[in-house]
Amino acid sequence: MTCAMGSQCCKNLTNGDAHTIANNNSTDVVQNGIEETATQSLEVLGPKLSSLRPYYPTQEPIFPPDLKINHKEYHGATVKICGPRVTWIRPISLDEMLQLKKQFPKARFVVGNTEIGIETKFKNQSYPIIVSSTHVPELTYIQDTDQGLQVGGSVTLSQLDGELKQRVRTLPEFKTRIFSEVVEMLKWFASQQIRNVASISGNIITASPISDLNPLLVAAGATVQAMSKDRGCRTLTMDKDFFCGYRQTALAPDEILVSVVIPFSKSNEYFGGFKQCNRKEDDISMVNAGMLVRLSEDWEVNKLVLAYGGMGPALVLARSTMETAIGHSDLSALQPMDSQELKTMQVVGAQDSRSKVTDCVGQIIPHKAALQQSTGQAVYVDDMVPTQDEVHMALVTSTKAYAKILTIDHSAALAVPGVVDYISAKDVPGQNSLQSQMDSVFSEDEVTCQGHIIGAVVADSADVARRAAKMIKIEYEDKSPIVITIEDAIKHSSFYTGERRISTGNLEAGFAASTFTLTGEIRLNGQNHFYLETIATRALPGEAGEMEVFCSTQHPNCVQEKIANALGLPSNKIVVRTKRMGGGFGGKETQSALSAVPCAVAAHKLQRPVRCVLDRDEDMITTGNRHPFLAKYKVGFSPDGKLHALDLELYSNAGNSLDLSFAVAERAILQIDSCYKVENLRIVAKCCKTNIMSNTAFRGFGGIQGTFIAEAIQEDVAEYLGIEPFKVREANFFHKTDLTYYGMNAGGDSVRRCWNMCLDKSDYFRRRALVDQYNRENRWKKKGLAITPVRFGIAFLQSFMNQGGALVHIYTDGSVLVTHGGTEMGQGLHTKVIQMASETLKIPMSLIHISETATNTVPNALATAASVSTDLYGLAVKVACETLNKRLEPIKAKHPHAIWEEIIAAAFRDGISLSATGFYKTPGIGINMNTMKGIPFAYFTFGAACTELQIDCLTGDHKLLRTDLVMDVGDSVNPAIDVGQIEGAFTQGYGLLLLEDIKVTPDGAHLTRGPGNYKIPSFGNIASEMNVYLVPDSPNPSGAFFSRGVGEPPLLLALSAFFAAKDAIRAAREDSGASPRFRLDCPALPQHIRMACADEISKRFPQVDPASYRPWTVDL
Ligand SMILES: Cc1cc2nc3c(=O)[nH]c(=O)nc-3n(C[C@H](O)[C@H](O)[C@H](O)COP(=O)(O)OP(=O)(O)OC[C@H]3O[C@@H](n4cnc5c(N)ncnc54)[C@H](O)[C@@H]3O)c2cc1C
Repeated sequence: MTCAMGSQCCKNLTNGDAHTIANNNSTDVVQNGIEETATQSLEVLGPKLSSLRPYYPTQEPIFPPDLKINHKEYHGATVKICGPRVTWIRPISLDEMLQLKKQFPKARFVVGNTEIGIETKFKNQSYPIIVSSTHVPELTYIQDTDQGLQVGGSVTLSQLDGELKQRVRTLPEFKTRIFSEVVEMLKWFASQQIRNVASISGNIITASPISDLNPLLVAAGATVQAMSKDRGCRTLTMDKDFFCGYRQTALAPDEILVSVVIPFSKSNEYFGGFKQCNRKEDDISMVNAGMLVRLSEDWEVNKLVLAYGGMGPALVLARSTMETAIGHSDLSALQPMDSQELKTMQVVGAQDSRSKVTDCVGQIIPHKAALQQSTGQAVYVDDMVPTQDEVHMALVTSTKAYAKILTIDHSAALAVPGVVDYISAKDVPGQNSLQSQMDSVFSEDEVTCQGHIIGAVVADSADVARRAAKMIKIEYEDKSPIVITIEDAIKHSSFYTGERRISTGNLEAGFAASTFTLTGEIRLNGQNHFYLETIATRALPGEAGEMEVFCSTQHPNCVQEKIANALGLPSNKIVVRTKRMGGGFGGKETQSALSAVPCAVAAHKLQRPVRCVLDRDEDMITTGNRHPFLAKYKVGFSPDGKLHALDLELYSNAGNSLDLSFAVAERAILQIDSCYKVENLRIVAKCCKTNIMSNTAFRGFGGIQGTFIAEAIQEDVAEYLGIEPFKVREANFFHKTDLTYYGMNAGGDSVRRCWNMCLDKSDYFRRRALVDQYNRENRWKKKGLAITPVRFGIAFLQSFMNQGGALVHIYTDGSVLVTHGGTEMGQGLHTKVIQMASETLKIPMSLIHISETATNTVPNALATAASVSTDLYGLAVKVACETLNKRLEPIKAKHPHAIWEEIIAAAFRDGISLSATGFYKTPGIGINMNTMKGIPFAYFTFGAACTELQIDCLTGDHKLLRTDLVMDVGDSVNPAIDVGQIEGAFTQGYGLLLLEDIKVTPDGAHLTRGPGNYKIPSFGNIASEMNVYLVPDSPNPSGAFFSRGVGEPPLLLALSAFFAAKDAIRAAREDSGASPRFRLDCPALPQHIRMACADEISKRFPQVDPASYRPWTVDL
């Protein structure tokens, strides 16, 4: 075979020119193999490995051609590779493997390494010997037997899936009922990538209490062939005794699992699998089950096996039910959820009221970087080619929530080969402070949350830096009280000073005029930003204190200022550049600085480039989330649901530093009336000081919390009165001329317009009747339908922050480079700005480019946030372009038929400046935060959503059936981007309200540290039918090119999904006779939905006194 590399093939190159398969001196193949065969392997790999040159990061790594060409040679030999910490052995015969198992009973025998890999990376486990059993023929075969299908232990789940499917297709249906359910379960087992490598033996032997295959195998009565060197082979049935403890099986330490027989079902046997998790795809089970029933000829149950996972430390059999629960059951419980083909529609209308010249404003234009991003060519910080002397940084963080630091011993870490330095507060030449009510750069004496940054290790690779960071020994002295939750903060009066209070109307008179009053509580938990690209920084020192910083941040200017402050340098020495981010959602507004500033401190100290790219778990524990909120309310209203008085206490969990928490609380206060008029209102808002990572900005920024609370109160009133929530909402809507409590026109008619459009497009009334009918006919599946309005104010609340700058250059070839203060995080800002520049200059978009955002081109820019960036930067660019137009006017007049390029060439020859700045400041806004009176917003963005959702009352599962989303985005600058924002925001909001679950222990440890246990919405969570409508003919004179800000408002559309779930639960409660009034907090996870259905089964669960036990996790 010839190599595709031709003459460049590594075989033809001299030492070191080959593309590498391993690098350094520490990885080697040793001569003292365990068997003769191991020594043979040296002849295959040894000389080549040791003759290879180190890996050069400047070269694109490729799959080694030698491995492609000589794969048979490599596959046919035992391989043993000794690294400094791990010896990896890959035997090729069963006998060798048994010998190894005898010799090293504690060694791990891996196939896919998907369990062991997690244990070593995240659980600090170390296994000095790992044996890979992927190449042992007896473990990889598959054969049909009389009893069923026999599969070798190392068969991957994808192979198993294919083999089972083939038998399901060809064998009689009755024989393959177990196979079919295993296939169905595999669909939901991890991801395709995991299934491609993970094995059946890995799943069985791990014996996880939430393994997805084990309940099926036990219920099916599968058998396992186990083998040891000394005692040979034996067969074990996977029954009640097979899983004998937490992660323990009946196999002896010297035994390996050779194969498994999955039996055929018999004609009178029926089999079912079940998996319950937050999200359907790629999620680990909360509870799962395998169920087999054998019927007699007269259809009486004569065998029942119910095997459950997730109910205890090991798999359990529901033995008493198996013995006694033989009889009839209500089959409606077994009906699957509704399923239909995915449908979607986007109606953007021909609504544009602007004049068109060469313009492309208002047109559907793909995101400018769509091609680069979808083909992997887009460059993010960590894609940048490192310089020769670049080093990597890993953070050293606190493992205590609140403690004094006694000693820090970094000697072991510094002794690790490749480690360059340990960086701490002592190395900060300027102020050890991140300013702006944030924390120190490195904490010195005290830590106030787990994840608090104490120091950093710099090494020649990220891997070594991370490993060494874990070796820093820190002695602490615990402090108390540890305050984690809002309730803890209330108990210990742990609040940041400066609570916000507002009062409007006459509360007492309002309550006196109310026929009814209700008190209640509602809470909304946090949400992780979970952007695709974690926070990343490269800091490159230059001459005389200069520093160039590439950072994944929504706020380059903030990073610049904080680095300058920490280094004790003026800001003009620091340049921060952001080409793009892989998502931000507010998480990179202030908190990029948490790792960017230490990175710059290290670069400054070492005088060499330093790169810090947070691993997902580092990102999740060192940065904050969306603020959890708790609201305590008293509401007064009349029999039609009209609210007369509302008294509210709002608590937000701010974390260990204030950061933006008061701004978030203020936004919540300003959104607390949602779209409803409440004459008499009092709000007290407090920010709780707690020992968790400081919570921060997140798309919606208090607005979603305020609106959620407002809508929950509307629902509470409706439930109390026994009338449809829809009617209560309508009774309270602002009218056309109504003012908000702070004195701004509330846009009542715009809300109505969206609402009516949504009622119409969703066919609300007909579907309401259908949903009610469905609920009357079904006991264990219920449907819910809800419509909710949206009104979201557009502006930063600090009025000075509503300013933006731009710089536009025209080059002599006529091409235009636009720079502005906004950053691109996938939201399409640069695309919209280019459209607006194109419209203003009256040239095609193809002549215009935006390359990056940088502090040396547009200074003092504010964060790209608050849904204002299209307005601020679009209009700043417009101003700059208009300046240039003015300068070009004489040339155009002189050369009326000249094309753009000729005009520019002529202008250059005439000595006309072809570069201009632009600046825009939102006029006429400002609010007094003490009185909460004024005009805080430039305008509102409006919308409405109607969502239908189905729940399974027994499992708490739910499915979005249909959602109709209506948004008034004014005259859209780019409907394609706006629709993308609407669909994305709805889905993110849905994740917040019904799916995502941050798990924190009572002592403040974050358990959710990655995609393995923190689940954001996936494909299966998309509504079966999702329709988006942009309101036509709705120009907004206060927005850029008559548009409205769209980044955050559509997040609120997801409230319709949450209240649809509540509607469905209400229907279930009606059947069981439970009160229609009940509390449902956010997120409403399956366990909450299940228990809220309050039927005879859920009532059997005893109420446990919360003070009587220490929970695993707490609601923040
Ligand atoms: C992202 C992700 C998602 C996941 N999702 C799921 C899921 O949805 N459902 C689920 O059940 N699991 C899930 N898992 C867990 C894991 O993938 C499965 O348990 C998988 O089947 C393990 O197979 P493996 O070959 O990778 O095991 P390995 O990691 O290679 O080995 C696991 C254990 O099995 C032992 N072992 C392997 N083969 C033998 C043998 N022949 N004889 C004796 N001992 C042996 C090993 O020594 C080790 O202790 C997930 C894991 C990850 C990383």
